[in-house]
Formats: sequence, C-alpha cells, structure tokens
Amino acid sequence: MTKEKNYHFDSKCVHAGIGDYEFGPVVPPIYQTSTFKFENAKHGADLFKGEREGYIYTRMLNPTVQAMENAIAELEGGYKGLGCASGMAAISTTFFALLKSGDHLVCSKAVYGPTNTLINTIISQLGITATFVEASQTEEVKSAIKKNTKVIYIETPGNPTLSIADLTAISEIAHENNAKLVVDNTFMSPALQQPIQFGTDVVLHSMTKFLNGHADVVAGIIVVKDEETYKHFRKTLNQLGGVIDPFNAFLVHRGIKTLSLRMQRHCENALVIAEWLEQHPKIEWVRYPGLKNDPDYMIGQKQHTGPGGMITFELKGGFEAGEKVMNSVKFCQLAVSLGGVESLIQHPASMTHLTMGKEARSIAGITEGLVRLSVGIEKVDDIIADLKQAFDQID
Ligand SMILES: *Cc1c(COP(=O)(O)O)cnc(C)c1O
Repeated sequence: MTKEKNYHFDSKCVHAGIGDYEFGPVVPPIYQTSTFKFENAKHGADLFKGEREGYIYTRMLNPTVQAMENAIAELEGGYKGLGCASGMAAISTTFFALLKSGDHLVCSKAVYGPTNTLINTIISQLGITATFVEASQTEEVKSAIKKNTKVIYIETPGNPTLSIADLTAISEIAHENNAKLVVDNTFMSPALQQPIQFGTDVVLHSMTKFLNGHADVVAGIIVVKDEETYKHFRKTLNQLGGVIDPFNAFLVHRGIKTLSLRMQRHCENALVIAEWLEQHPKIEWVRYPGLKNDPDYMIGQKQHTGPGGMITFELKGGFEAGEKVMNSVKFCQLAVSLGGVESLIQHPASMTHLTMGKEARSIAGITEGLVRLSVGIEKVDDIIADLKQAFDQID
C-alpha cells in the first residue's frame, strides 16, 4: 500500500490500491463472482452486522472493485471511492445521496448535457429545484444561494466552454451556507487537479474518459472525504444498484497506471494545437486554459498543474463550416466522448447539443461554429496536419 508513504503522484498511479493476494500476483485478480461464501452462520451474521470485514455480494463490495476504488481515492486525496456503472450513475447516486424533496441545487451552466437533462427532468420531478449559473463568475454562484440550497455542483473546466470556476471561493460559499460542493473532475483527472485540496466535499468522474483513457470502458466513480459520508453513499449506491462490475474495474485500474504519462502528453499536444489554432485565419476564437491570454488562465494556474487535453474553438464559418470540418477530418475521429489516447473531434451544435435547440445552446454558450477537440497522445504534427487539410475545405 502506498498510502502510508509519501511517494510522488506518478508513482502512486502505478502502485495505488494494489494489495497482497493469494499466489502473489502483482496486479489484483479479477474476482468475477456475484457472491461470496460464508464460513458458517455466525460469519454471515457478523458480516451483515458490519462486525467483521469481508465480502457478501458484489453489488455491495467486491475486492477487484475495491482495489480500483482505493487507488482513485488515494490519487484524489479522498477517504474512499465508490465505483459506479457510468459517470451518470455516479452523478445520479450523488444527487440521491445529498438531495431530497424541497431542496435546492446550484449548478454550473456549462455542464455535461445529460447532467443538465437529469436535473431538469427526474431531479426536478422529485421536487428539487435548481438554479444554473456561470460558475466562472463567483458572484453569480453566491447570489444563487437560497435558504434550502444543499448542493453546489460544478464542472471545471466547464463542458464544452472550458471556463474555469474558482474552487476555493465556491467551497467557502458552500460551507458558509451548510451546502456541499460537488465537483465533476472528469476533464482534468487527479493528475492535473485535486478538488478536495480546495475544499470540495465530493469529487466524481466519468472514468470512461481520462481515468481509464483507452475508450473501451464506460464507468464512473465518486470520491468522498470521511467515513460517515462514505457509509451513506455506499448505502445509497447499494440501493440504487448502479455499481461497476469487476472486469471494468480491473481495466480502469490498469488504465490509471499510465495516467500521469498520458496527461502530460495530452497537455503538451493540446498547447501546441491551441497556439496553432489561435493564429489560423479561419478561427474566430480558441478556448484552452493553457493559453496565456485565456480569460481564466490565472485562476486555472491556482488550482491545476496542467491545462488538460480539451480544446474548444469557433469556426468563422459557423454551423456549415462545423459540418464541413466534421466531414473532412481523416485522422481525428468523428465521435463524442473524450479523454482517450486517440484524438476525437465533435461539433456540439449538430451533435451532442443538437436537440437542445439554437436558443438554449446560445444560453449555454454553445455557438454554432463551436468545435470540441479531445486531443490524443499521438504525434502532434499528425493532428495539426489533419486539421489543416480539413480547414482548407471550408470556403
Ligand atoms: C462523459 C461525461 C459524463 C458522463 O459519463 P458516462 O460515463 O458517459 O456516464 C459526466 N461528466 C462529464 C464531464 C463527462 O464528460
């Protein structure tokens, strides 16, 4: 276990969560079992009473899953993690754990599309109200607080606008008002940003993205700071049932061994591309938190160690130019999702945010020529050459 020792983050990525197992394997075995035998009636009773540690049933706890959960909790600087079937399972479980009828939620406007939909449908049908704010404007967050606000829910950088919210300031607002700050840290990963250091109460991820990093798993995680919260979340997750399975947990645990290396390359590539885009005549603007003239550059410097692998930019030709570029790329793959080793490109106005309608898109800051690029770890010259030839196709 690396927890006791003060190893560097890069080393923790390789070793975190790995314990001792029968026969001495260097990676945790995949305990592909739904249930676990009791030695006798008393053993079963003790496990159910929580008087003995052990495993009962995989929805409740599984050793392969637990190894991965411990690893990510350690990387985030939290107490424990809860592996979920998807990022959305992590988000919905968190809402169910922290909110009840009559409560109020403050949420960033620039939030993952299905999170927005979840809040506006199922969560609102439960009698929980929400106010959406531009979270990069701390004053907006503050003035949205009501007597019954229980949760502030933030993505930083925001999706897909890449605006940055001040975690320290917002966690202070949350705690002054007896609310919890929940941060979706998917875009950064703990390699670049550890929100708990800045007062965040609950950190969650779509592990589908950078944590697993290989575009072959759908999974999520919640990381909490103390035992009491952990127990409450574990009970909630067990009741809702959206747990990760052992094989996916194994794959994610394998993926995070290279997290530091991958994030470093994502950042290096993305900065080169963002600077190239900035001077391209067909580009209206570029948002990348690593650009020195980005409006949120300074606040980003306070809370992340690298600006990540996501870039958004606006094509001067608007919606049509967006479609044209999508149909012209050959190396960057036209797909939603992000955070894998391969570069992916998408045009929210004609894809992820199409059904929102133009007006709602505009309120959320999603302009018609906005393109989102998830920069992979390939040789950066190949990505730039592909974008260049695609931009040459626009009139
Ligand atoms: C993808 C994503 C999610 C949802 O995760 P799934 O694993 O697809 O359920 C949530 N938040 C952010 C920021 C994401 O990018």
